[in-house]
Amino acid sequence: MGAWPSISNVIFALILCSGIGYFVMNMRRLIALIKMGRPVGEVSDKKQRWTNVGRIAFGQSKMVRRPVSGVMHLIVYLGFIIINIEVLEIIIDGLFGTHRVFKSLGPIYGGLIGVFEVLAVLVFLAVVVFWLRRNVIRLKRFLSPEMKGWPKTDANLILYFEMVLMALFLMMNATDLSFQQMNSGNWVSASIYSAIVDWPPQTMHLVERICWWAHIVGILIFLNYLYYSKHLHILLAFPNVYFGRVTPAGAFENLTSVKEQVALMMDPSADPYAAPAEESVVEKFGASDVTDLTQVQLLNAMTCTECGRCTSECPANQTGKLLSPRKIMMDTRDRLVALGNEKASGGGESSSKQLLDGYISREELWACTTCNACVEACPVSIDPVSIIMSMRQYLVMEQSAAPAELNTTMTNIENNAAPWPFNQQDRANWMNE
Ligand code: SF4
Ligand code: SF4
Repeated sequence: MGAWPSISNVIFALILCSGIGYFVMNMRRLIALIKMGRPVGEVSDKKQRWTNVGRIAFGQSKMVRRPVSGVMHLIVYLGFIIINIEVLEIIIDGLFGTHRVFKSLGPIYGGLIGVFEVLAVLVFLAVVVFWLRRNVIRLKRFLSPEMKGWPKTDANLILYFEMVLMALFLMMNATDLSFQQMNSGNWVSASIYSAIVDWPPQTMHLVERICWWAHIVGILIFLNYLYYSKHLHILLAFPNVYFGRVTPAGAFENLTSVKEQVALMMDPSADPYAAPAEESVVEKFGASDVTDLTQVQLLNAMTCTECGRCTSECPANQTGKLLSPRKIMMDTRDRLVALGNEKASGGGESSSKQLLDGYISREELWACTTCNACVEACPVSIDPVSIIMSMRQYLVMEQSAAPAELNTTMTNIENNAAPWPFNQQDRANWMNE
């Protein structure tokens, strides 16, 4: 350690504080966006929820159902978490002017860095395969209309970021003479070092410093890029799985206010002229905009990784209908962010382009069969059907705007207690035919 603090320690501290400060600011913006939804109250089944977090979020159990992408994702996920332990050393070195402060751990240090180096190579290779699948093999689920423009650029930017960060890490180790002389843990970087061993020591040191700075600055930029990217799922997948659905997928949640009205109708002792209880009067049925959705539905939208597994399993999408559950989630997120930006710049909720019709069309909503295949396929427990059903609820209960066939069916159920246009008394007539 030289004279402390040196100018580079101060610059490092400033960069670190700015990076973390901006990240905290973005997280606050994110929380404010999610809070624009309706509160969900106390959640039940906490034990089941924690089990889900362990199995689905940490254990990646739904990811590996598609083995190729699942295993590669597991490598990138583990690599990303484990390699970042090394960031702790970079931060201490940067703040206090030390160099590889954990080197004193001896063989343990060598073993750790060796594992990091192998993981860095595996992550790099996995990311190259991901890039090939999107850009050369061009898998169908990455070519849907909603994946054009920014979503495609975003996905590629994430991959480039990861490739560059891994390459910088390996190059930083390869050009670090003191680390190479340790000859412990340089399992991969030793090969790079042997190729550049003739470089003058000053050049070697300069490249090492450039890679060191670029690596940590790159990590901070990536950290702040998350808010603007589908990569936000690396943070939100955990709370999203916790708040994910724990009741059976097909069970439709009835509106409390409607249930109360029906219970009242069935109760012979109830006074039909009594004023309804204040809490049972609802301002609006269903959802026409993001502010009508619950905070969990908005968390779902912000968590979506745009992987398209839901859309590739969706029978409506497979049979050429307009519906794509991934687009439902992306539209909800885009509308939420647009409304959040409007509010932040002093506007109200006056935007004419609300979620219904402005982003999601009625045709998409009515194309859903409510089969829940999308929910089953989603690796991070997102529930696109709940948003579709909330919006349908609005169309039916607020606008009486269901398709004609559905209106006829509902009228029949109301009048005949069956979906067919026959009187109940005629039900058994078929026996006489
Ligand atoms: S529930 Fe609807 S959106 Fe989901 S897979 Fe089935 S048809 Fe598609
Ligand atoms: S909803 Fe789930 S399955 Fe569908 S694109 Fe988003 S993360 Fe993937």
